[in-house]
Amino acid sequence: MRNHLLTGLLFVFSVISLSSCATTPDAGATTAAVPYPLKTCVVMDGVALKQEGRPIRTVYQGQEMLFCCKQCLRIFQKDPEQYMSKFRQQTGG
Ligand SMILES: [Zn+2]
Repeated sequence: MRNHLLTGLLFVFSVISLSSCATTPDAGATTAAVPYPLKTCVVMDGVALKQEGRPIRTVYQGQEMLFCCKQCLRIFQKDPEQYMSKFRQQTGG
């Protein structure tokens, strides 16, 4: 039954490597998220994202979302699904 023990050990090692990968320190990031691919705000069509300083940012269901201003973030948070479907259309997903 040595093989069985070895398989168990391999499983434990893979779990450890997976969890250590997930907890890799990432400066400033609160959650591991898919980077926002657009150059424009999804709430206000065609308006460029905030360029200077800190971006207006949130993470919705693992997707990073960036906005041109705080108001857009608030609008997004009131009805995220509406803007997520708009976002998916714009990204072709
Ligand atoms: Zn805005």
